[in-house]
Amino acid sequence: MPNMYNLFRENSKEGGDFIRGPDGSTIATYQDLEDGSARYANRLTGLGLTKGDRVMVQAEKSVESLFLYFACLRTGLIYLPLNTAYRLNELDYFVGNSSPKLIVCAPDNEQMFASICKGIAHSADIQTLDSNGKGSINKNLSNEPTTFNEQVCDDNDIAVILYTSGTTGQPKGAMISHGNLVSNAVALHKAWGWTRGDVMLHALPIFHIHGLFVATHLAVLNASPIIFLPQFDPEEIIGLLPVATVYMGVPTNYTRLLASPGLTSDACRNMRLFTSGSAPLLAQTFNEFKRRTGHAIVERYGMTETGMNTTNPVNGLRKPGTVGSPLPGVSCKIIDHEGIEVPINETGNLLVKGQNVFRGYWQSKTADEFTNDGYFKTGDLASRDDDGYISIVGRDKDMIITGGFNVYPREIENIIDNMPGIDESAVIGLPHGDFGEAVTAVVVKSAGSNIDEETIIQHLKNTLANFKVAKQVFFIGTLPRNTMGKVQKNVLREQFKQ
Ligand code: AMP
Repeated sequence: MPNMYNLFRENSKEGGDFIRGPDGSTIATYQDLEDGSARYANRLTGLGLTKGDRVMVQAEKSVESLFLYFACLRTGLIYLPLNTAYRLNELDYFVGNSSPKLIVCAPDNEQMFASICKGIAHSADIQTLDSNGKGSINKNLSNEPTTFNEQVCDDNDIAVILYTSGTTGQPKGAMISHGNLVSNAVALHKAWGWTRGDVMLHALPIFHIHGLFVATHLAVLNASPIIFLPQFDPEEIIGLLPVATVYMGVPTNYTRLLASPGLTSDACRNMRLFTSGSAPLLAQTFNEFKRRTGHAIVERYGMTETGMNTTNPVNGLRKPGTVGSPLPGVSCKIIDHEGIEVPINETGNLLVKGQNVFRGYWQSKTADEFTNDGYFKTGDLASRDDDGYISIVGRDKDMIITGGFNVYPREIENIIDNMPGIDESAVIGLPHGDFGEAVTAVVVKSAGSNIDEETIIQHLKNTLANFKVAKQVFFIGTLPRNTMGKVQKNVLREQFKQ
């Protein structure tokens, strides 16, 4: 397979608007994408970068930052986006670990990166790019040619390194190849029934697979206009739904949309598809969204190392609390600790194999993450129902072992979340002298609710086997979440350990 960019060009060459402003204005066309990314590609090669060099980018969303990304694909450079929230210590590690040849950062961070680079063995060029798409990387950019011959790349050539969030240990750089990107984009484009006329409403960050590979790639593959918003604002999203057809969000985006009275079926009249992922979508959010808007959110499941693995169907039953079935070309297995596949409806470790699975971690051994027959161990616990729909039960490392019994937090969270007076909960294991770990619930009450610990524990006793019942309940204002809406259970374990 040639360079991923060739596929984008082939599909988007007839396209009109590439990026639209919230007011409907054209900010860039697909021809601008072709020309702008060629200019950046020429700039990058002019800076002496060659295939396989890393381009680290910590920049806000802008059209230019997208051009830069596509330019990296065209030149065969490895694009390495970083969460804009990362600060000195984290950046120091990423620079040291990935040895970028070029760093593109916000002007305010230029000095900081310069001091980080003093401490590393190789030299890195530092250029700036601000949230308006202005910066030193653009100096005399209009003099650069608008044509560029794509670097020849094969399936295994690395296109992007994405660091995992690293909630335990140091983050690892997942190496994602051109072949990974092509296979996943093509599979999702088909599965989600993209058609001419689709308009993408984009409010996700582009340093993560969700906003970059899922939301951006699919729109470009479809030559669709992208209404490109710097961040998620529920009222702005609701105001723009009538001029969009596709919206992709993390579950917290949906709960925030539901909190606004403006979210109605009329506001969604033009919409074709809502998708959710990156964290579990509560069944109650799915049901409430359907009631309010008439739309059943399509929940899908993926991760940095694999791209998307499964999805609920666009044509067919979308089951709340499940992530659907494997995409074509993706094979999923759920196994027990002996490596034997578990029966239907039983929980085990989820393994994934396919063209979508990454090529390993940057400068790190990967053998342990794969089985002998080539499946990637996702670290997620899952079960599969009679119809082949998969449910993600939680992270393996979040599983609680209490008195020798395995307890899956999601089962208990679902019960607590369905109690009146509760918004949401997170169930964690805390060290315990007798049991090893004690099941512990951290609960967010609804506004005005006076539900107490005893009521919750009593309800769990009435519903579950005794070993699954929370020994203690803590109340909290909001659950700690990362930028992709994932609950940070490591933070809770630290906060509530005695
Ligand atoms: P990331 O690599 O940051 O995308 O995180 C991937 C992890 O997010 C997966 O391994 C899952 O634990 C979780 N995740 C992603 N999508 C879902 C989903 N739909 N339901 C439950 N967990 C999910």
